[in-house]
Amino acid sequence: MRILLIEDERELAEALSAALGKHGIVTDHTVILADAVELTRQNRYDAILLDRRLPDGEGLSFIPELRLTGKDTPIIVMTALNEPKERIEGLDLGADDYLGKPFLVEELMARLRAVLRRSPELAELKITAGRMVIDPLHLSVTVDAVPLDLPRRELLVLAALARRKEKTVLRSTLEAAVYNYEEEIQSNALDAHISRLRKRLIDAGAGVAIHNIRGVGYLMKEE
Ligand code: CA
Repeated sequence: MRILLIEDERELAEALSAALGKHGIVTDHTVILADAVELTRQNRYDAILLDRRLPDGEGLSFIPELRLTGKDTPIIVMTALNEPKERIEGLDLGADDYLGKPFLVEELMARLRAVLRRSPELAELKITAGRMVIDPLHLSVTVDAVPLDLPRRELLVLAALARRKEKTVLRSTLEAAVYNYEEEIQSNALDAHISRLRKRLIDAGAGVAIHNIRGVGYLMKEE
């Protein structure tokens, strides 16, 4: 899962990115609206977290701009502007939720889960493959109902492959599931994740195999 965070308070942004990362969510962060527009053109986001008072303008102005491009990505406004009329303004402009600052990260996570549940693409949240059930929102995986402990990045790769099982998944798609746009990706990092993941899946009897499609990507097959 990938979200866009538009927030100019660096400390808050860093804390949020770290917290979201623990839940397996890749965060692209920007401090200005101009970059946000560009990023939404280049990437597909599952949700957008939007501050209001930003260096280059009112965050709410981004919502109609985004909707005009035909994107209905869920948007949660997070702001200190939290009077009733300000909340009404945000929701009426097309925000899906509105959270006053300061807030608990746990509450933001719960609201994020709530808007994601409504997204048709994520409606079938749990992914099954072989003997595994993967819950991408809570970042957990079980094999025959027994929890399997996986490092975050391996779990993200696993979920991306399992979501498209029996189909070749491009390297770029897998990398986008694991890294944000600011992270330097080592050319063999993905292969290293896959190789460790393969071993763990065999050890756990997960009932799937990951095939290498040379130069293209990877393919998960049920056994
Ligand atoms: Ca701000």
